[in-house]
Amino acid sequence: MEITRFAPSPNGSLHLGHAYAAIVAHDIAMARGGQFIVRLEDIDGARSRPELATEFAEDLAWLGLEWDAVPAQSTRLASYADAAERLRAAGVLYPCTCTRAEIAAAATVHGPEGPVYPGTCRGRSVDPTGAAWRLDVAKAMELAGPLSWEDELASIQRARPDLLGDVVLVRKDAPASYHLAATLDDAADGVTLVTRGRDLFAASHVHRLLQHLLDLPVPRWHHNPLLLDESGEKLAKRRGSTSLADRRKAGEDGAALAQALREQRFPAGISLG
Ligand code: GLU
Repeated sequence: MEITRFAPSPNGSLHLGHAYAAIVAHDIAMARGGQFIVRLEDIDGARSRPELATEFAEDLAWLGLEWDAVPAQSTRLASYADAAERLRAAGVLYPCTCTRAEIAAAATVHGPEGPVYPGTCRGRSVDPTGAAWRLDVAKAMELAGPLSWEDELASIQRARPDLLGDVVLVRKDAPASYHLAATLDDAADGVTLVTRGRDLFAASHVHRLLQHLLDLPVPRWHHNPLLLDESGEKLAKRRGSTSLADRRKAGEDGAALAQALREQRFPAGISLG
């Protein structure tokens, strides 16, 4: 059975881009007689606003979607710690105490998600207390050998986790980074098709490697195109994209909006990238 997902982080209200991604994921599951699940990615301590869980559920229901809720990430911390321990035991994690500013100053390569970590702490002896833990991607790729993965829209990909460099898997302030938590959760939730926006395409290279290292089942992916604003930038709440909650509270018809998004009829100034 096909299982798709929508995994919002409660650090800001949902906007049209989220609605589009949720509708795509929902509709694929329904068309295939599958299941659509919603998971709250709420381990971003300082930025998480628990009250948004209710708002998100109201938004999705307003759009006319039905879903099965699975446990939020904050209830799964033990599984992240276990996986990190396995990766440490396999010798593919190292502690890192670099600050963002130090990384920005030392980085020479810019990857799909910004400066690529220049490997400053790799091979150094670093006090692990309070450190972040990074994936030694070269070592992990050597252990894994060549890997590939399949995106429904972009076809077969050779895994290139090196494009993102030695990503953080255990944060200084949280027991997992997005990469580790989402990969483990998609496996635990039985997700067969990882549905999300194209902005996370590069992350899937890393997730494929983690699946190998942690003996997890390998899903397929569907990275939907993003909704862009007038300046060609992806929609973002901080740039003032109207939230779904604001539209809902203003009395807009959610089912009609969902239908317009399905038919790619977007509000003025918004286009599909
Ligand atoms: N939690 C992420 C976000 O809200 C999405 C992660 C995913 O779909 O894998 O941007």
